[in-house]
Amino acid sequence: MDYCRNTWNSEPDDIEIAMIHIADKHIAVIGAARSGLAAARLLTEKGADIFVSDSGQIRPEIKNKLADNNIAFEENHHSSRAKEVDMAVVSPGVPDHADIIKYYRETGIPVYSEIEAASWFNKSPIIAVTGSNGKTTVTSWMAHTWHTAGKPYLLAGNIGLAFSDMIHKTEPGTTVILEVSSFQLDHIHSFRPDVSVILNITPDHLDRYQNRFENYIQSKFRITKNQQAEDIFIYNHEDPVLQRRVKELRNLPFHPRLLGYSDRRELHQGAFVRNNEIIFKLRNSEQRLMNTEDIKLPGRHNLNNSLATALAARVSEIRNEAIRESLKTFEGVEHRLELVSIKDGVRFINDSKATNINAAWFALDSFNMPIVLILGGRDKGNDYTALKDQILEKVHTIIAIGEARETIKEQIGNLTPDFKETDTLQEAVILGKKKAKRGEIVLLSPACASFDMFDSYEHRGNVFKKAVHDL
Ligand code: ADP
Repeated sequence: MDYCRNTWNSEPDDIEIAMIHIADKHIAVIGAARSGLAAARLLTEKGADIFVSDSGQIRPEIKNKLADNNIAFEENHHSSRAKEVDMAVVSPGVPDHADIIKYYRETGIPVYSEIEAASWFNKSPIIAVTGSNGKTTVTSWMAHTWHTAGKPYLLAGNIGLAFSDMIHKTEPGTTVILEVSSFQLDHIHSFRPDVSVILNITPDHLDRYQNRFENYIQSKFRITKNQQAEDIFIYNHEDPVLQRRVKELRNLPFHPRLLGYSDRRELHQGAFVRNNEIIFKLRNSEQRLMNTEDIKLPGRHNLNNSLATALAARVSEIRNEAIRESLKTFEGVEHRLELVSIKDGVRFINDSKATNINAAWFALDSFNMPIVLILGGRDKGNDYTALKDQILEKVHTIIAIGEARETIKEQIGNLTPDFKETDTLQEAVILGKKKAKRGEIVLLSPACASFDMFDSYEHRGNVFKKAVHDL
């Protein structure tokens, strides 16, 4: 393998060190959702004394599982027991400004994220993927590639399967493909991926970063923090933030091998597109992979996602033939530019996962036909005018929904021939059908969070799909 090395924690001695590290230690797990439960179970099994504490209510099924594992817990507050600990493992949902985290900081109690804790016991090579948009698509695409090549892998992390739950299955011949959010990176200490990937960095979640974009960027770059010269960092060369940071990284005395990808210029090292062909250039030798037109998923962002996937696969010595096959056959992930149905020649596309402006921009960029756009939800301080060029070019009707309706109307209500508002998503779908002609698209790409009207983006996407099927 190109990144053939044992991770420090795959050495037996190091595992012992980690075990000594936590055996009989008092550890608080803050936040009792999926990853908190997984960390609590893993660390209990490794001999730690675990206390799970959640400032809110814990779901009944999680309580049952904690009780089944004899793990003590509390809910609706953090008592002194949660404070009198040797270390804490914190769930990604707990912000840094939460009182309990402030307390740990002030008293010098170390705080780790769940992926950090899991990585102490990991025996597999890790490919860790972060970015503002595209993480789930790319990690799923990598999983599809490994599957196509018949190579063993584990898919875990932010994608919904906690790394701690997978640890028992890690071994040197199996690759861990890990989706990592910035919140998980905030509390890493020794986490060291063999291959790290940053897809893009655009403003998101700034409420968790003192409203400073710079803090969010730094958080993302922590993915490379422990990487050594034999490790690899894959990045999107066309992202201006990444380009600037990589220059700085290059000047450091120690840094991982830097491999960029680009859909618009040739690079010295990495993957790029030349005359509609994907080219790998590694250690000064070039290989042609395939024609970009053979990639199944539409859109420039998916071309970029395919380059990230292909490059990570290439440096992991997946055969080009399998990579080609994977790029030709990957159908994407539910709620991301998902074709729901074609009704009377109108295509209904569910992009409910577009919870920020950048994702909606790329959704619009993916199509060349006239569009009815359903936009809105819980506003995150969005600047909708960033969509102006795309809207002027191809959107003839905007249907605004949710709390953001008024803001959308004020900012871009006059850009399209038709601007409408509806109270529900179902009404928006019915209206969209009336407004769209044969050959056109009704696109749900809301650029907003879903929590004003729905439990989650999945819930929103499912309501959209049902409304389409009910037409
Ligand atoms: P994440 O896991 O980072 O939230 P997803 O793969 O779930 O990303 O996609 C989230 C949204 O971003 C979807 O609307 C999707 O179409 C869009 N998207 C996917 N890849 C990219 C990319 N490389 N750049 C911008 N938007 C993207």
